[in-house]
Amino acid sequence: MIGFLEGLKITLKTAGRKPVTAEYPEADKRMEVQQRYMGFPALTWDYDVSEPYCTGCMVCIRNCPTQCMSAQMKDNPLHAEDKSRRRKIIDEFEINLGRCILCGICVDVCNFDAIEMSHEHELSKYERDGNRVDLPALLDMGKAYQASTAWKPRQPEKNSGVPKPKPAKKAPSIELAPVSAAALEHRRAAIRARAKERGGSADAETQTTHPTDD
Ligand code: SF4
Ligand code: SF4
Repeated sequence: MIGFLEGLKITLKTAGRKPVTAEYPEADKRMEVQQRYMGFPALTWDYDVSEPYCTGCMVCIRNCPTQCMSAQMKDNPLHAEDKSRRRKIIDEFEINLGRCILCGICVDVCNFDAIEMSHEHELSKYERDGNRVDLPALLDMGKAYQASTAWKPRQPEKNSGVPKPKPAKKAPSIELAPVSAAALEHRRAAIRARAKERGGSADAETQTTHPTDD
């Protein structure tokens, strides 16, 4: 009898509980993903200089185990205008997310805080190649991730694109090496000898050549 009542208690308690399941895909009934959730990789955006963090260095591409990424870099026009520290910038980037295994290696090897495992996970397509995403799409995914997680670069000092202030130019200072008395006397003797050979005044030439020696 006691066991029966205990069972009934649990049944009644459970009956009054809110459901823990979500009705996918209804937007307002979906479960929120956790902050630590690792969805598909996305490229981050540097809002300080309005350009991607990615320089197209190819390190992530060489390390991707499924070879699903490709990229091309170009000279950064903002660097030429002194508006960015990045000499090179990404020009084209593509990831075939249909082949990505979400291993996170691309994020681990990137030295520029340029790629993150976003929260994006709903990319089912009917076409075999339907999940090839280009640079604008990857940046949109990255921007959404940055906004939802208040993302900050791990190495802000190193990877900021904001140009460093240039140090003020100093006027070049010319410092003359001190001349020893013996060297000075030796020089004067040479001048006197030369003047004597030419038949002029040794003192006059010494003074003309070295007006500040005395
Ligand atoms: S995401 Fe990082 S590792 Fe990959 S190309 Fe861009 S800067 Fe290089
Ligand atoms: S998460 Fe892994 S498989 Fe996917 S793009 Fe990055 S390195 Fe490649």
